[in-house]
Amino acid sequence: MVAEKGTDHDSQQEKNDVLKSTQTVIHKALDKLGYPEEVYELLKEPLRLLTVKIPVRMDDGAVRIFTGYRAQHNDAVGPTKGGIRFHPNVTEREVKALSIWMSLKCGIVDLPYGGGKGGIVCDPRNMSFRELEKLSRGYVRAISQIVGPTKDIPAPDVFTNSQIMAWMMDEYSRLDSSNSPGFITGKPLVLGGSHGRESATAKGVTICINEAAKKKGISVKGARVVVQGFGNAGSFLAKFMHDAGAVVVGISDAYGGLYDPKGLDIDYLLDRRDSFGTVTKLFKNTITNKELLELECDILVPAAIENQITEENAHNIKAKIVVEAANGPTTIEATQILTERGILLVPDVLASSGGVTVSYFEWVQNNQGYYWSEEEVEEKLEKILVKSFNNVYELAHSRRVDMRLAAYMVGVRKMAEASRFRGWV
Ligand code: GLU
Repeated sequence: MVAEKGTDHDSQQEKNDVLKSTQTVIHKALDKLGYPEEVYELLKEPLRLLTVKIPVRMDDGAVRIFTGYRAQHNDAVGPTKGGIRFHPNVTEREVKALSIWMSLKCGIVDLPYGGGKGGIVCDPRNMSFRELEKLSRGYVRAISQIVGPTKDIPAPDVFTNSQIMAWMMDEYSRLDSSNSPGFITGKPLVLGGSHGRESATAKGVTICINEAAKKKGISVKGARVVVQGFGNAGSFLAKFMHDAGAVVVGISDAYGGLYDPKGLDIDYLLDRRDSFGTVTKLFKNTITNKELLELECDILVPAAIENQITEENAHNIKAKIVVEAANGPTTIEATQILTERGILLVPDVLASSGGVTVSYFEWVQNNQGYYWSEEEVEEKLEKILVKSFNNVYELAHSRRVDMRLAAYMVGVRKMAEASRFRGWV
């Protein structure tokens, strides 16, 4: 009995291993594109992974040693780029997978970057401002040799924000004895941030929703939308959907979900949300995240964490369109089930690429020392994402593959070509 349970658990864990599942899809994509095995061998893992220990003297006087990572997947196309996540569940394998996803995103929206990602195992919800500043600066000192504006450019991710980017930029600038805004993106405007960066991921998701709705013949105005997660992506998205006339019937955070078939008061919820995206604690009648995902709706946006739609619940999803604002919310098995059920799934590497696109704009502006208006940023973002969505959509149809495989095929191609031209494979 016990052994059997162990086996089930192991196979479940294996299915939920984001590195393994992304490697499976990369392999398929390269096969479809006709690349030889050595290209897969090169791309299945990051070129570099640095593990660091960061000592921080906490407010109570004790020293705590934090573990951090920075993975650089592939820099054939250009410097690596991607966020830094502060989260208790950060693991080496997750950071590796996240760096591969960044490479794919950059390929899909055609940016001159490869993918990178960083993470620190910590819970910022239980840390003071001062402790967070020390941790952020310590991390930059620890990884300083492998990052820089022409090497690897970090950005925000789960539980990191513009303040943390500001401390990191300041620390790097001190180490480099120069003002280096191009070291990191997602900075406050006054430190060389870009207009539209904060809401860029949600803007990108919104553009994908609009395109997907056109394909499905659904009007966004009046559509019932469920958003899982009320962090940076989820909260801005709920607002954009609400403003577009959609009815946001469900939202959730790490503690539970809220449901109202007549539509939730999004402005009120945004007002009451804390900086970690928590709001449901204020309410009594909450639903579980599982119930939230299975609500009657037209558009479902997982904007929280990995492995939320699995073979367990994929059959119960009622939405006609699923747009992944989070990284890795749907397993490979669930992708197949949703696709077979005729649900249009817009994969993470496409749907959430608005953030890195505006990060690229920020870096370009830093390098030029010339700053753009919000309208310019929005116009350029819209153009890139509409084109990228349609590239992936058309490839999925012409090659009869699901949207995730099509997105991987688009995302991996430039990196494989660049690695070939450099004579690496
Ligand atoms: N962390 C974000 C992502 O996963 C943004 C990365 C960036 O802006 O470089 O796409």
